[in-house]
Parts: sequence; C-alpha cells; structure tokens
Amino acid sequence: MKKKKMTKEESQKIIKKIKAYYYYFELDKDSTRIWTDKMQPYSFEDVDRKVEEHITGEDRQNPPRIQDLLRFLLTEEQKAKSKEEYLVNCNLCGRLMPFKEYETHYDKCLSFEYLIARAKKEHKEITREQLENTRQDVLNKLYEKYKPEETNLKAQIGS
Ligand SMILES: [Zn+2]
Repeated sequence: MKKKKMTKEESQKIIKKIKAYYYYFELDKDSTRIWTDKMQPYSFEDVDRKVEEHITGEDRQNPPRIQDLLRFLLTEEQKAKSKEEYLVNCNLCGRLMPFKEYETHYDKCLSFEYLIARAKKEHKEITREQLENTRQDVLNKLYEKYKPEETNLKAQIGS
C-alpha cells in the first residue's frame, strides 16, 4: 500500500496555504517543527481538506490552530486499523467476518460452491457443513477428481 503519511514538503504546503489566506499568520521555527511533527501521521489530503473547511467555515476570521485541523481526523495508522477490524458479509455464504479474513475465506467459499455444484450434477449431495469438516488433503483430492473434465473442456475450446 502507498505510504500516505505527510512529508515535510507537504506540511510546508499546508502552512503556506494558511499564510496565503491569513497574511499575518506566522510560525516561528519551533512552532513550525511542532506543526510538522503533529501533522506527520496524517495524510496531506485530509489536513488540506480541513484547511479548506476552516477558511470557508464559521471561524474563518482567524487562522486555524493545529488542534482545530487535526481534531476529527484519523491518522493513517488508525485508518488501517479500522479497516482491519471492519466486518463484512461474505456474498456467497453470508457469514460475517473481519475484512482481513475475507479474501482467504472467499477463495475457500468459492471452491466449496464449485464442489457442491459439481456433486449436484452427478446427483450427489454434499453440504457446506461436510466440506467445512473435511481435511484439506481430502478436499484437494476432490478438486483433483473434478479437474479432468475442466482440462478436457479447455482442450476442446483450444486454450
Ligand atoms: Zn463465504
């Protein structure tokens, strides 16, 4: 994933932008360092948006304070974390799970669907529950068993 934390150049850009709207806005060296440090965990886009909101908002007569800009923002780390904890429903089986498990689950879920459909074609019934309780090596054999036809099909369409 692309690193979204703010660079020094980007924090300079933010400060310059505030200066452009408030000519008397001045940060000494120490304050500039504090601003830069404080903004660093956030993304440029988020803080920039807050500046925009401030200059058109109710408190626009005064320049924003750093705490005004950051108060309701999530750091990039917090965002990543909330994404990890984010829950989704599998759109195949409907089960609720953390987003980070979804990809692995989805692959498994999809192959279960495939096996169930294939068994049905041969008028056999396998349930999802049975598959859930089947060891991986047995499952692999099942996939192997159904594979030849797929290979033949590929040969037929010439790929
Ligand atoms: Zn599922």
